[in-house]
Amino acid sequence: MMHQMRAETGPDGATDSVVSWHIVRNADLTALCGKTLSTAAPVQDATRWTLDPDRNCHTCGALFLREAPYFPDEHTD
Ligand SMILES: [Zn+2]
Repeated sequence: MMHQMRAETGPDGATDSVVSWHIVRNADLTALCGKTLSTAAPVQDATRWTLDPDRNCHTCGALFLREAPYFPDEHTD
């Protein structure tokens, strides 16, 4: 299963007004936490989830960790 980060944007929908990042499966517009996101919202690879954790959706983070047991760049064994 592929995951992507999809942004929740501000009230005006501007793509540079990212409020927080959620996780979606594949190309879904519904985040793991149940929030519906815009097709116009920025997306980025799920491997970037750890880069700016202050803006991540906590619910998505918890559910994502259950679906993706480890982050590839943290798997150093
Ligand atoms: Zn979320």
